[in-house]
Amino acid sequence: MIRILIVEDEKPILDLIKLSLLGEGYHCTCAGDGQEAADLIESQTFDLVLLDIMLPGIDGYELLEYVKLCHIPVIFITAKTSTADRVKGLKAGAEDYISKPFEIAELLARVETVLRRFGKEGNGIAFGDIRIDVSARTVIKGETPVSLTAKEFDLLLYFYQNKNKALYRAQIYAGVWGGDFPGDSRTVDLHVQRLRKKLSLEERLVSVYKVGYRLEV
Ligand code: CA
Repeated sequence: MIRILIVEDEKPILDLIKLSLLGEGYHCTCAGDGQEAADLIESQTFDLVLLDIMLPGIDGYELLEYVKLCHIPVIFITAKTSTADRVKGLKAGAEDYISKPFEIAELLARVETVLRRFGKEGNGIAFGDIRIDVSARTVIKGETPVSLTAKEFDLLLYFYQNKNKALYRAQIYAGVWGGDFPGDSRTVDLHVQRLRKKLSLEERLVSVYKVGYRLEV
């Protein structure tokens, strides 16, 4: 069951989103302000957060920082429609952005797309002979379960979520370890080497000259 947290202080909109998502079989939890949302995120697990920007107390941008630390994807839902706000939201790390008023069909399509990108649909992620179950955090190669450390798993997922793109080491570091790149690429390189070895990814997880790495799927 996919669990979605909806954070929205306008009750009619909250109810509309909730009803629409329930109709698609998602499990929904609602929060009317940022503090309530933060408390829920701390005590429960979610696969996706739909986050209004203008909230009483802690606003959406502030909350996004916190949600990102928990590796939960976020779709911003907001009345703000200017390009500057849109860019700010995406730069802050939201996966997508939807402006009020919106069509329910559009909202559902965006929810589905983000969940798929994060491998949070029923069947999980598969490429080549590798299958990843994101909720269970397990990886199977062929028929054999492969044991990965927490960071190796996060790294694999990060590569998959950014598949076929050349990624800079600093970008990879920020996405997986968080915080500023220490300037020394050893952490990233070591983990990439281990992933390649454990999953025989030498052909797919390629080095990109003067950049970093790319997962070819
Ligand atoms: Ca609002």
